[in-house]
Amino acid sequence: MFKRLIPLASFFFYSFAVWSQPIDNTAVLARKQVPVLCYHQIRDWRASDRQIDKDYIIPPATFKAHIKMLADSGYHTILPDQLYDYLTRGTALPAKPIMLTFDDTDGDQYQVARPELMKYNFKGVYFIVNTNIGKNRHYMDRKQIKQLSDEGNVIASHTQDHVNFKKLQGTAWETQVDKPTKKLEAITGKPVKYFAYPYGLWNSKNLPELHTLGFLAAFQLSEPRDPGDPLMTIRRVIDCGYWTSATLDYNIKHDFGKLKQRQLARVNVKTLAK
Ligand SMILES: [Zn+2]
Repeated sequence: MFKRLIPLASFFFYSFAVWSQPIDNTAVLARKQVPVLCYHQIRDWRASDRQIDKDYIIPPATFKAHIKMLADSGYHTILPDQLYDYLTRGTALPAKPIMLTFDDTDGDQYQVARPELMKYNFKGVYFIVNTNIGKNRHYMDRKQIKQLSDEGNVIASHTQDHVNFKKLQGTAWETQVDKPTKKLEAITGKPVKYFAYPYGLWNSKNLPELHTLGFLAAFQLSEPRDPGDPLMTIRRVIDCGYWTSATLDYNIKHDFGKLKQRQLARVNVKTLAK
């Protein structure tokens, strides 16, 4: 009886010891950033799409070419737990690590991205807007989300209604963040530990609430990280449908040129090479 309890007790002690260690933000900031790519809709452009919309829409052929380029170039996809362990404790990552993230529950992420990632044994992170779950044929349903989770991808939180994080206060923390996150845990049967800011918008003032709600890390877009809380402001870059595979490769190798997303969208490897 006691023999069985000892490993259990040491597990809890170990978990507590890891959990209770304060995060060394200076060490987190000093580690080389892992490229994190962000995707929304994966479909062909329509005549009605405005230029600004196209930043968020990557045509399937371009998406497939980009994922193939990553595989052919020897990149390995990592998941948020690996990134967290690397950033907080320096745990080693596979060679050429990269993270692929998908926002907003779009159905083409299941229809197009899922089989493409599976070809190369890649895994992704899906940031779910709860109100979109099963909303209509353009969005993923509960079953598809559960399947992605069962297949080793990570399901994470992106609020109930895609609200501006900077404006969250009072009971909205419960309705927009805590309850929908628990619903995702009920769907997947796994803890949901990661969050992404709708529109990439965040403010320092509201970051402590994410810790209180139990999140380990959160993902923004291309703003500089908060020096006081780099884990809650991990950077991502939208992989633009305008980019050739060579442009994506160049941008990854050059840390995305420290450019903001708006500038990045128009970057082309032909102009970079000059
Ligand atoms: Zn979003």
